[in-house]
Amino acid sequence: MKKNQQPTANTQNLTPKTQKLTPPNSDEYFMRIALSEAQKAYQKDEVPIGAVIVLDNQIIAKAHNQTETLQDPTAHAEILAITTANQFLSSKYLNNAKLYVTLEPCLMCSGAIFWSKLSHLIFGAFDEKNGFTKTQNNLKSGSIIHKKLTVKSRILETECVAILQDFFKNKRLK
Ligand SMILES: [Zn+2]
Repeated sequence: MKKNQQPTANTQNLTPKTQKLTPPNSDEYFMRIALSEAQKAYQKDEVPIGAVIVLDNQIIAKAHNQTETLQDPTAHAEILAITTANQFLSSKYLNNAKLYVTLEPCLMCSGAIFWSKLSHLIFGAFDEKNGFTKTQNNLKSGSIIHKKLTVKSRILETECVAILQDFFKNKRLK
């Protein structure tokens, strides 16, 4: 009897582990899609930054940086993703939605995140130069992000840093 029961027990133990390898709703899963958006930007010779907006585990917007293509300094991945999500939902607010972005948002994008009432911000790499956390420290007064916004960082950080480093290294070589 014991010999018959053991395989069943083993299978049960394996199932959750196998599922953990490819969870379709994890932060890593959505960040990988943001990274594939960053790759699209790279191919257009744009600074490779990608963003994804998720509501109830469903992607409602994907975008990548297009400041060169559109000759528009506001065409950051986050702004384009937020606009797409607003249009998709026919709503100016994105309550309960999650924004995944490969690089820490700048001050402009933090403003857009604030006004759109996004619930979660998840980013990969920190932006030492233009990221909002540094700007916020310099402001010394209040918070530039919404108090109800949950922030997570360093999701797939290595990959998010690598694509940017690779892009700027190739730029210098050209
Ligand atoms: Zn920005």
